[in-house]
Amino acid sequence: MNELREGLKKFFSFDTFLEGQDQVIEQVYKGDDICVVMPTGAGKSLCYQLPALVRPGYTVVISPLIALMKDQVDALKNKGIAAEYINSTQSQSMQNAILMQAQQGMIKLLYVAPERMRSQAFRDLLKDYPPESLVVDEAHCISQWGHDFRPDYTRLGESAEKLGIKQICAFTATATPRVREDIKKQLHRPAMDVVVTGFARPNLSLSIEDCSKKDQKLEKIRELMEDRKPTIIYCATRKAVEEVMDGLSVRGYHGGMSDKDRNDAQDYFLYDPNPVLAATNAFGMGIDRADIRQVIHYNFPGALEAYYQEVGRAGRDGEQSTCVLLFSFADRYTHEFLIDLNNPDEAIIKSTWDTLRKMCRDTGENHFEMTLSELAESIPKAKGDQQLSGVMKELEKSNYIRRGFRQ
Ligand code: ADP
Ligand code: MG
Repeated sequence: MNELREGLKKFFSFDTFLEGQDQVIEQVYKGDDICVVMPTGAGKSLCYQLPALVRPGYTVVISPLIALMKDQVDALKNKGIAAEYINSTQSQSMQNAILMQAQQGMIKLLYVAPERMRSQAFRDLLKDYPPESLVVDEAHCISQWGHDFRPDYTRLGESAEKLGIKQICAFTATATPRVREDIKKQLHRPAMDVVVTGFARPNLSLSIEDCSKKDQKLEKIRELMEDRKPTIIYCATRKAVEEVMDGLSVRGYHGGMSDKDRNDAQDYFLYDPNPVLAATNAFGMGIDRADIRQVIHYNFPGALEAYYQEVGRAGRDGEQSTCVLLFSFADRYTHEFLIDLNNPDEAIIKSTWDTLRKMCRDTGENHFEMTLSELAESIPKAKGDQQLSGVMKELEKSNYIRRGFRQ
């Protein structure tokens, strides 16, 4: 433990562990397989970073978002820590250079997205120079019972098993007992220890306001915005985001915007002293702003875990923050519609599959590189890319598709 305490000071300049960190860090350090459920802001990253730094060898961290891994790696590099990421934004020669550094033992923490497991060069690295540990961050993405399922996560267990990876550590802020069981199962580590350090967020005050009409909701938000502070307004749909943007003259963020507009919105949210942003749930994971003072739900979210995750983004600095949900019963119909879209019927799954096969034959390729909206355009039966995302998940589940899709 002394070594770990010294490392805490030396690498991170902290004197003490936050609640729950020491137990987890010790277990990770010992080499246990462990699934850790700790609230947002509790300091999960340090729980795998510190052991990785004091142990010999290196650790691979699976992280769901490119922006997220960049932030983390930049922060580590600023502390002089040997961390890198490999992802599709880098040139091939850059990727090769990093693989080479890893092979030479020059990297302690290597961040990658889950789909990297499909890359032969990366698999060779893991086989020839196995990491001490594989860390799965945002591990709830592995489970279809979670609220943010990523098909690519489900292949991790198989890959880790084939490659003979010694230790797997999974981290998440949200995992119901069912999701926890699924994480162990999907990672092929049934004996994995589960550590839950608690869900309490004493600095968040949660409340619900009855608002049946749109105007009532906007009026309420106007009141809440009087005292300007960093605020996210979560909306269930892109249309609702636009409604809030127009109604309140605030900026917005959703998956239908161009990469540039989304990056701009993200920068605005990170760097403005008091940003107010209307967003779908596409915004948030990995947003490293600790002083978000207010989270408003314009529509109630589709799952309780999603609510926990979204309000959890407020007050990561421990200061008092408010979360207000504007409740309208009619919003349930939006969710029912989205659920239908995400659970497509047989005919649509089959027609998608046929289209994909035809495209394969036409191009002579055995895999695809296209976005869901490009695909949506080529499949007349689908109701846009929302529905296709459901179709793709079904195809993934049934092992129709093994590679090549980017979302
Ligand atoms: P999580 O992933 O659990 O949401 P992070 O790993 O992003 O949380 O950490 C949240 C914040 O807590 C970060 O700003 C981090 O620097 C800080 N932190 C982590 N460990 C400690 C510690 N032992 N002492 C002080 N601050 C810490
Ligand atoms: Mg985290």
